Amino acid sequence: MHLADVALPVPLDRPFSYEIPPALAARAVPGARVVCRLGARRLVGVVLAVREGEPPRGVRPIDTVVDEIPSIPTDLLAFLRDLSSYYFAPIGQVVRLALPPMDRETEDASAEPELFQRRTGVRGPKPVAWVLATATGQTPRPLRGHASAILAHVRAMGAVPLPRLVASWPSARGAVKRLADSGLVTVEQRLAEPEPLFAETIERDTAPVLNAEQAEATRVLLAALREPVPATFLLHGVTGSGKTEVYLHAVAAARERQRGAIVLVPEIALTPQLVQRFRARFGDNVAVLHSALTPKERWTMWQRVRSGPVDVVVGARSALFAPVAKLGLIVVDEEHDPSFKQDEGVRYHARDMAILRAHRVGAIAVLGSATPSVESEQLVRAGKAKKLRLPSRARAQPMPLVEIVDLRRVPAGPTGDKRLSLPLVRAMAGALEAGEQVILFLNRRGFAPAVRCEACGEALMCPSCSVALTHHKVQGLVVRCHYCDFEEKLPSACPKCKQVNLALEGIGTEKLEDSLRLVFPKARIARLDRDVASGKRIEEVLARVRAREVDILVGTQMVTKGHDLPHVTVVGVVNADAALFMPDFRASERAFQLLVQVAGRAGRGDRPGKVLVQTYAPEHPSIQFGCQHDVAGFLDRELLDRKELGYPPFSRAALVRVEGPDESAARAGCALLAEVARRAAVERTTVVAGPSAAPLPRLRNRFRFRVMVRSVDRGHLRRVLTAVDQARGQLPRELIVVLDIDPVHLL
Ligand code: ADP
Ligand code: ZN
Repeated sequence: MHLADVALPVPLDRPFSYEIPPALAARAVPGARVVCRLGARRLVGVVLAVREGEPPRGVRPIDTVVDEIPSIPTDLLAFLRDLSSYYFAPIGQVVRLALPPMDRETEDASAEPELFQRRTGVRGPKPVAWVLATATGQTPRPLRGHASAILAHVRAMGAVPLPRLVASWPSARGAVKRLADSGLVTVEQRLAEPEPLFAETIERDTAPVLNAEQAEATRVLLAALREPVPATFLLHGVTGSGKTEVYLHAVAAARERQRGAIVLVPEIALTPQLVQRFRARFGDNVAVLHSALTPKERWTMWQRVRSGPVDVVVGARSALFAPVAKLGLIVVDEEHDPSFKQDEGVRYHARDMAILRAHRVGAIAVLGSATPSVESEQLVRAGKAKKLRLPSRARAQPMPLVEIVDLRRVPAGPTGDKRLSLPLVRAMAGALEAGEQVILFLNRRGFAPAVRCEACGEALMCPSCSVALTHHKVQGLVVRCHYCDFEEKLPSACPKCKQVNLALEGIGTEKLEDSLRLVFPKARIARLDRDVASGKRIEEVLARVRAREVDILVGTQMVTKGHDLPHVTVVGVVNADAALFMPDFRASERAFQLLVQVAGRAGRGDRPGKVLVQTYAPEHPSIQFGCQHDVAGFLDRELLDRKELGYPPFSRAALVRVEGPDESAARAGCALLAEVARRAAVERTTVVAGPSAAPLPRLRNRFRFRVMVRSVDRGHLRRVLTAVDQARGQLPRELIVVLDIDPVHLL
């Protein structure tokens, strides 16, 4: 009998067998979506494999096949199976990462394609004639009529649907036929939606002349693209060194060889410029995947990528799963960014998995950063990746001067608050007088990070989390939990001792903005943090800054990301220590990266930049190395520390977290898994630490305990985790077990 192994969206980590009825055999192939019965439910699953075999008892047939062509190409499917096994993540959940977007119900019985299409207004793809430029460089004889204009257009776009040419040039059909006869274009039937991908069109640009360093990096990448073997590169370029231009050249080179590319960025709304540059270079061949798309737009993008005409995908971490055929290149821009690690559901790291996917298909992976992660640096040192360097800025601007402001000694500025110190205020005033722009970075949003009773000393706490409530003023005098979004009115008296003596503690971006209005009443101030902005709103704020409608931009780490703002000359780091003392072995690395990245926003134009770093710990290595832009020095030292302590990248780590509504049950469950881990950790290479309360011991009314497992040997670690994974079923049902491999967010 013909059988299919199907991955279904259920927590059970195994495929289910179904019979393939003869009528469906042609379409029920690996990667295709199918509708199957499981108990009383009908679910959409993905065929993992088909085989001949004895039917298991009670086997049921597949009801329908959803796809004409399989949603998941076979090489992507193989990669997803590797990913599932590496992260101990159910295959049914993992394959969903790569499926075209559907709304929730479509997991269930209403999954028929017609229903989905009716709901979203999307019609199935229809084949359309596309005109493609051939590789022939020369243009023989003078061309008649509009043929030369059409040829130029097709060459510029790479591929154009014939109906679109006919709309611009009524005689296009004849012209295309003549061009095809002389081998200048080919015509092929492709599945495509006739509507454009983007509402607004964007002007095409041409590549600038690369500087010597960019040219050398590009040369190495192009050489690697010509080889059929996979390779990993770490492009270490200082802030403003023109890494994007190197990516653009590599993508163009891949496309010339009929290979596709995926470009991953940490957060797409924060990088509108990068997206624009890709669109300007590659036009309609680029799909941009981001969270602000409607399901229909997302579906259209996905469909174009799957069916071929679009071969460049730019997006946040989930774009890693785009069905790009003949993948030649994956770029991970700002590879050090922690947001590449997904911290719910399937807890994958997009950077690590980009290397794996590239490896599987013989593609190259390019990790780019001004502040390479310790992990990527170690890949280079271990010979598993090759480093390419862009040591100076693209247009030879000097790196900004960094000055440490020692908060233990420095006088306060006009507000009487040290956090707006005199040197900082003076530097800002200088820039504003010269008509330049200022960025202030403070990694706390809200008005005051804590509200404390001066009588009894208690801070206002979230009722469901072990987290102090942050006071927000603009949203109507409220206090809010930044972890569960609990919100209430700021009380007038202490809920514990009833005294009317509450004091606001610390400073957030909202208060900073308020203070700045007092000090610089004429300046135009904008704020960029999660409270003001998400998605399109972020782009609006950044556009206003770029248009110089803003003099001072205040914000959280959102302001540190790769923005290229040529009129920013002063950058202030209000509290450099905030990131230093987190309960996380990556705290030093993170603090260093934030410092160098935010400093890199200064002096990108014609005027030199200046950075002021306010700190109570000026001698801390992260601050010292950061202020000297000394990436190599920092990495040397950090790698040495990690090696001594046996931390990643010199070991592999995993976190096992048990969460539950009852504290002692959660602790007991965690203790049981710790015991299982210890028993399985027979080799001396493996360390099991815990159980202990998580750094965030209670979240959303669940108590959290954890065990950390580390080993220098990946196989040994796997054995321990396999034992834990199997034992989790013994725990009471109300306990949630999280298995986080290579954890980044340790809370
Ligand atoms: P990075 O991503 O390394 O921080 P960008 O790619 O944003 O740097 O480049 C910084 C600036 O330099 C951008 O404005 C870019 O247009 C410009 N640039 C990059 N390469 C060149 C070049 N070869 N010639 C002229 N300008 C360039
Ligand atoms: Zn809370």
